[in-house]
Amino acid sequence: MSTRTTTAQGGTDAIVIGAGLGGLASAMRLGAKGWRVTVLDRLDRPGGRGSSIARGGHRFDLGPTIVTVPQGLRDLWAACGRDFDADVTLKPMTPFYEIRWQDGSRFAASQDDGAIEAEIARLSPDDLAGYRKFLQDAETRYWFGYEDLGRRPMNRLWDLIKVLPKFAWLRADRSVYAHAARRVRDERLRFALSFHPLFIGGDPFHVTSMYALVSHLEKAFGVHYAMGGVQAIAEAMANVIRSQGGQVVHGAEVDEIMVANGRASGVKLADGEVLPADIVVSNADAGHTYDRLLRNRPRKRWTPAKLKRARWSMGLYVWYFGTRGTREMWRDVGHHTIVVGPRYREHVKDIFIRGKLSDDMSLYVHRPSVTDPSVAPEGDDTFYVLSPVPHLGHDNGVDWQAEAEPYRQRMIAMLEERLLPGLSERVTESVVFTPETFRDRYLSPFGAGFSIEPRILQSAWFRPHNVSEELPGLYLTGAGTHPGAGLPGVIGTAEVLGQLVPDAAAPAAPLPMAAE
Ligand SMILES: Cc1cc2nc3c(=O)[nH]c(=O)nc-3n(C[C@H](O)[C@H](O)[C@H](O)COP(=O)(O)OP(=O)(O)OC[C@H]3O[C@@H](n4cnc5c(N)ncnc54)[C@H](O)[C@@H]3O)c2cc1C
Repeated sequence: MSTRTTTAQGGTDAIVIGAGLGGLASAMRLGAKGWRVTVLDRLDRPGGRGSSIARGGHRFDLGPTIVTVPQGLRDLWAACGRDFDADVTLKPMTPFYEIRWQDGSRFAASQDDGAIEAEIARLSPDDLAGYRKFLQDAETRYWFGYEDLGRRPMNRLWDLIKVLPKFAWLRADRSVYAHAARRVRDERLRFALSFHPLFIGGDPFHVTSMYALVSHLEKAFGVHYAMGGVQAIAEAMANVIRSQGGQVVHGAEVDEIMVANGRASGVKLADGEVLPADIVVSNADAGHTYDRLLRNRPRKRWTPAKLKRARWSMGLYVWYFGTRGTREMWRDVGHHTIVVGPRYREHVKDIFIRGKLSDDMSLYVHRPSVTDPSVAPEGDDTFYVLSPVPHLGHDNGVDWQAEAEPYRQRMIAMLEERLLPGLSERVTESVVFTPETFRDRYLSPFGAGFSIEPRILQSAWFRPHNVSEELPGLYLTGAGTHPGAGLPGVIGTAEVLGQLVPDAAAPAAPLPMAAE
């Protein structure tokens, strides 16, 4: 930590804890408002869950792979006087993804009306009218849930009370699955229209039907891949922050948020160094922020007991692997494939309610080498396979030290049978992340993949607020705050933050001295 500047009380210095996409976007927003920003992250690169690692000539994108609503990124760049498309190349995906069921049937989702309706008609012609109605529902929920609620602060109870009638009218109490089931009869289509909350940590049988809006997002704005992975977006963000005069410091773990005169006054690092600031923004998980970083202050709302009682999103088991000489071998396997297991409702119940590791699994398979050959040596492939699993907070939690390898073997057996024949002989690189890795790497409470689950009573005003309820001068962004997880969600948390934090005061002279 020798590069940071310490500062006088100019009212211009902001510290952002965490260089996840939410933290970086927040730093950009603050930089655009005149704040001198220092981003601190314990990892060695920007991006948090959206970063990547390299092994044996493969680049593994560790987390987000599907970029939706690119306009959110373009707006963010524009707010900083920059052009997103000059910094990052997005490639539209056609199809978006393919879903494969156990009975051999398939469904390719895409933006093209004719193509997707042909897919619906092939699986269940009687459901075409219901599908069109579902899309209309999705659009209504998009305008309300995404463009209205999702883009403004929800930290006053009044903000919530005002919108309750609309929530009731839209039957926000109904689950996404229940909503899909009212529109289409075919179970496969019910899956295809309702699984999206799993991408942001929600149980489709319990999260609000407001999340049907994801079907509209995909349809209206497409699904994209960032060339270079989401890591490339994170690096471009860090460059914007530097161009604004800010800095992004790695290998810096914050141990505590400091308080002076009843306000956040800076942070203390794990090595004991104290860094002062006029405001502190935490992009660390909201649970970690209140439970760990504010542990020496009484908390009114986000007490340890309340955080423990909260419903946390599921954990993730992710296997990153490289394969040799396979590029031409698995020709019909695209960039994004969902391989559905034998059970839907009961499997989801095992994950979210029973906290039990099922024998069966449903997998999301990422094969970026189809779109971006630079992720693997020539002729080879780079993959990751993700399986939702219980988080670590359930009673009788999974013993991952014992289970990780048998689980991977079951995964290989399923992939060999359903998608990638001959896989086990082709694997060259192999890295596994379990919920324990998420706990230890991202300091994620209970190793949850997406922070607090987006159920209705844990959304909007009910979620940890973007302006802290506990401490003046402290703000929160990222997946655990409003509007929530996923790239559009965390970019949205920064947009909301930008409305809550005032412009920086004119910097006090003289300019700060560099600290050792
Ligand atoms: C496997 C996976 C696949 C996903 N796929 C998609 C997808 O396809 N599309 C999509 O839109 N979303 C996807 N998501 C969700 C999305 O990636 C996340 O919701 C989002 O990236 C979270 O961003 P964040 O800013 O909240 O936090 P994070 O990415 O978790 O970043 C938080 C950062 O804070 C740092 N930190 C924490 N505590 C401290 C501390 N005390 N001191 C210093 N640093 C600290 C951590 O090191 C981390 O870098 C996926 C997530 C995962 C895990």
